[in-house]
Amino acid sequence: MADDFDDKNARPARRPDLSAPGRVKDLSSVSNPIIKDIRALGLKKHREETGLFIAEGLKLVIDALDAGWAIETLVVAKSQLHNPLLTQTAARTVALGADVVEASEKVLGVITRRDNPQSAIGVFRQKTTSLDKLDLGKDGVVVVLDRVRDPGNLGTILRTADAVGAKGVVLVGDCVDPFSLETVRATMGSIFAVPIVRASEGQLLGWRTKFRGLVAGTHMSGTTDYRAPDYAGKPTLLMMGNEQAGLSEPLAKACDVLLRIPQAGRADSLNLAIATGVMLFEVRRKALVL
Ligand code: SAM
Repeated sequence: MADDFDDKNARPARRPDLSAPGRVKDLSSVSNPIIKDIRALGLKKHREETGLFIAEGLKLVIDALDAGWAIETLVVAKSQLHNPLLTQTAARTVALGADVVEASEKVLGVITRRDNPQSAIGVFRQKTTSLDKLDLGKDGVVVVLDRVRDPGNLGTILRTADAVGAKGVVLVGDCVDPFSLETVRATMGSIFAVPIVRASEGQLLGWRTKFRGLVAGTHMSGTTDYRAPDYAGKPTLLMMGNEQAGLSEPLAKACDVLLRIPQAGRADSLNLAIATGVMLFEVRRKALVL
């Protein structure tokens, strides 16, 4: 699936300042400029400038490589080099023409701002796709998130979208960065499996006019029970609202139906990621079998 992505929307790339690509470097100082450059990817500004992001953990790095994502640098913990999978992944990275940096655990901890760092950190090129490249097939679902702000929510939604086989997640308006450390962590690797689109509200509304399928919005004043529509056999666009403000009026107006998940108890609403999970499993209920 990841092969369908393109990086047309990515900002001009600037590699961390590595003078000899495809080589193994041994670095143990946290003040080394290469390490500083990689650590800076914890900041949105630097991710935007470079078009790069960090994925932590050997499993994630392998998932990303298997899905065809472009690696720029692999940082490995020197103390873990007895692990054959780690050395194989390092060799694979070098074979791809990217750099491998052998570093102390302290350096890995500084890069990811963690006390117990993983044995590997991959620096990858960001990849998003466009609305026109989304392929929902005859009964696929795409999640549209209106101004999602919380990185944990976005990561959880990407992971859940992957789990139900969703065809993509569209980030509308001013959303949290899907390539932030916290979001990538929360996706548990699903960032590499689900096509991500960034779009303005106007672009989404324009694309929606050509969409043939059910456009289902979720809304606290929706009057249709979320279990009422028959989602089978048609593509579905599932629109979810911002954590504070809910779905914008123009997006709500563009929906065929506004759905509500009935609640008991005192809570005003469900957490966005939970509501998205409930919806996704309902939309995909007939398609998912044990
Ligand atoms: N104060 C906001 C409001 O009134 O819309 C609450 C937003 S809620 C935390 C975030 C989003 O989750 C909502 O916009 C909606 O998409 C979805 N959501 C949460 N609980 C829901 C429910 N019971 N029924 C339908 N959608 C729900």
